Amino acid sequence: MLPANTPTRMLINGQWVGGAEGETEVTDPATNTTITTVPRAGQADALAAIEAAHRAQPLWAARAPRERGEVLRRAFELMIERREEIAYLMSLENGKALPDARAEVTYAAEFFRWFSEEAVRISGENRTAPSGAYSIVTNRLPVGVCYLITPWNFPAAMATRKIGPALAAGCTVILKPASETPLTALVVASILQEAGADPGVVNVITSDQPGPISEFIMHDDRVRKISFTGSTQVGKILLKQAADKVLRTSMELGGNGPFIVCDDADLDLAIDGAMLAKMRNGGQACTAVNRFFVHESIADEFAKRLSARMAQLVVGAGTDEKTQLGPMINIKAVEKMNSLVNDALAKGAARILGDPDGVPVAGCYYPATVLDHVTSAAEIMNEEVFGPVAAIVRVSSDEQALELANRTDYGLAGYIFSRDVGKALRLARRLEVGMVGINRGLLSDPAAPFGGLKESGMGREGGFEGIEEYLETQYVSVTL
Ligand code: NAP
Repeated sequence: MLPANTPTRMLINGQWVGGAEGETEVTDPATNTTITTVPRAGQADALAAIEAAHRAQPLWAARAPRERGEVLRRAFELMIERREEIAYLMSLENGKALPDARAEVTYAAEFFRWFSEEAVRISGENRTAPSGAYSIVTNRLPVGVCYLITPWNFPAAMATRKIGPALAAGCTVILKPASETPLTALVVASILQEAGADPGVVNVITSDQPGPISEFIMHDDRVRKISFTGSTQVGKILLKQAADKVLRTSMELGGNGPFIVCDDADLDLAIDGAMLAKMRNGGQACTAVNRFFVHESIADEFAKRLSARMAQLVVGAGTDEKTQLGPMINIKAVEKMNSLVNDALAKGAARILGDPDGVPVAGCYYPATVLDHVTSAAEIMNEEVFGPVAAIVRVSSDEQALELANRTDYGLAGYIFSRDVGKALRLARRLEVGMVGINRGLLSDPAAPFGGLKESGMGREGGFEGIEEYLETQYVSVTL
């Protein structure tokens, strides 16, 4: 059941409002039943959000950095106070298991805390020109009105990772959350409102027809930035649209994570790391492992132990306290798992765990699955899996693992397990990814720069770098 007081209207200019294009349903993937409906925004709503964000922006930027920081700090505290309620809501609309949902609320709130601290550390420079005739002064100015689009897999954290730095920098935002998970984003927005964000600083529009509404917003002269997290396919469309108005862009896109287990790896660590890197959020994470490259001398043991751990996971509705592996986001995602697994089996892989008929039939479930001896021809080697399927490839050397790991257009996250940390560091430098875990299966941290190389995106979120995405550098030349 929907927690009491969950907002189901859009937030525009500090008001909760309906949409010009009717309503769209929000579904519980554990049962395939409708939870509630939210508005479908039309152009008039988008225009109202742009106007509100544009009006509010100079006023918000003029508030003292400390005040902006304190709004974010208060939002952090409110999120933590309401962790249980938000976690439950997220499990309901997304399907993720409650432990994953609780961890995400904490992670998401931490972006508000981190950027509340960064708001007061925005600095410029004052240098003397080499000629000695003038000063080179730099101002760091907010970009302006930002359009933010987020995916369904981390409905809270993907929103706060963008809103936190934007507000800290003095920008205002229009957020369009994924149509599968709008409710969590609306709660986050209500918390920011309660924490003291002025009307128009945070606006949320909802729609299950994101193409036309996004194109409309991105072509308005008052919007200066698009920050997107989602698939590479949609990211490419948005990059082309952003070119029309030369918008600032940040792109956090898909991955095809390699996980290299060297012959000298500590297998206990590697299995723990594999469980986190593969199964957190049911495998529906952009940092999730897609391809395990395991040295042939330890591959039997690794495959046996990983299968044993994955087999223990309790499958069920995310909102059930016992659940460790919830449903996938929708039926389309289940069909994709079936297709990838069948293709890999047809091309020589062996399924050592995972009975597709061994999961509840009512919802969007797929069992924890391990495929061994996966061949390079299998689609699962090239496509983002985004589900609870582990694909193991046996390799004869670190060089072979590295060569196969880099054989992809993606470059988001990678993992290396070896007792020789010096060797692992050398391999990491040659791994074409934006983030590497060495003897660790979890990378995400609000204090670290998150982002990818190649077709996994551009720009960084979190860390000291995160706020840079929302700042312009203005140079002022002053005669001495
Ligand atoms: P998606 O289909 O690309 O959708 C992401 C967001 O874009 C949703 O809000 C969606 O709205 C919207 N959208 C879809 N088509 C659009 C269009 N033509 N114009 C404007 N907006 C559009 O991705 P997803 O399935 O939600 O999320 C999974 C993907 O996100 C995976 O590839 C994953 O790797 C990636 N991801 C990356 C990161 C990272 O930090 N690099 C983090 C998390 C997820 P609707 O929901 O209404 O369709």
